[in-house]
Amino acid sequence: MIRIGYHISTAGSIDFAFDRAASIGCNTMQIFLSNPRSWSVSKADTKEQAAFAAKEKSSDISPVIAHMPYLPNVASSDSIKRTKSIECLKKTALLCDQLSIEYLVTHLGSHMGAGKSNGIKNAISAINEIDCKVCILLENEAGQKNSIGSDLYDMAEILDSINIKNKGFCFDTCHAFAAGYDIREASSVEEIGRILGFDRIKVIHLNDALYDIGSHRDRHENFGLGLIGLDGFRQFFREKKLLSKPMIMETPGRADIGAENELEEVKSFLVRADNI
Ligand SMILES: [Zn+2]
Ligand SMILES: [Zn+2]
Repeated sequence: MIRIGYHISTAGSIDFAFDRAASIGCNTMQIFLSNPRSWSVSKADTKEQAAFAAKEKSSDISPVIAHMPYLPNVASSDSIKRTKSIECLKKTALLCDQLSIEYLVTHLGSHMGAGKSNGIKNAISAINEIDCKVCILLENEAGQKNSIGSDLYDMAEILDSINIKNKGFCFDTCHAFAAGYDIREASSVEEIGRILGFDRIKVIHLNDALYDIGSHRDRHENFGLGLIGLDGFRQFFREKKLLSKPMIMETPGRADIGAENELEEVKSFLVRADNI
């Protein structure tokens, strides 16, 4: 079965995300557990937690994927930033465990000029400090200046060096394309599988790209309307192992048809891709 949804707002109370996701036809969703532009992670109160647990049980929305806020930078060599980043990661992972959330997506951050190998070392040791049940997913990057994670060999090295048991990748199609991986080509898809391991990719961020391959720009476009395009995605999904992953769209949104219709269109595209 195809599992697809959007990044969903938790405004009001975290459990409201289930209602919002269901109302537009999602059967999986991604959420932030705290303000993405803040360092603070407040615990969900018990009432909110209970409401979340109840909806988690009764709804068809699975898995639930949490995404780390934007400020933490586990690759940083700055001791204050590093301490705050580890703290935020620990608190968010704990909250995921309390809410029985299956996956937590994190970016690897930026080495801020200290060099790639230092950034990679920092990221590994920071992630090794957490102790959690939730499966930690490392997301690949578009390759913005100083960022860690646009080279998939680096991603594989980092994942291999992390001691936590429950770990994998979140593969963002826009970021990979912007980083120079031509996912419209079979050879490139095959290479991605060889480097990362398809079985270790647990979630796909199904974003099209506003700029051309190798742009290193992290700008998402709606599915099929960017430079990857429908033909590109058709080729990408010739690898059937990728079709079985939960997919999340983090895209600007189709004002012309609305989220519900867009999701329906993308779903039927994926079903057709499955039958090729
Ligand atoms: Zn993403
Ligand atoms: Zn992005």
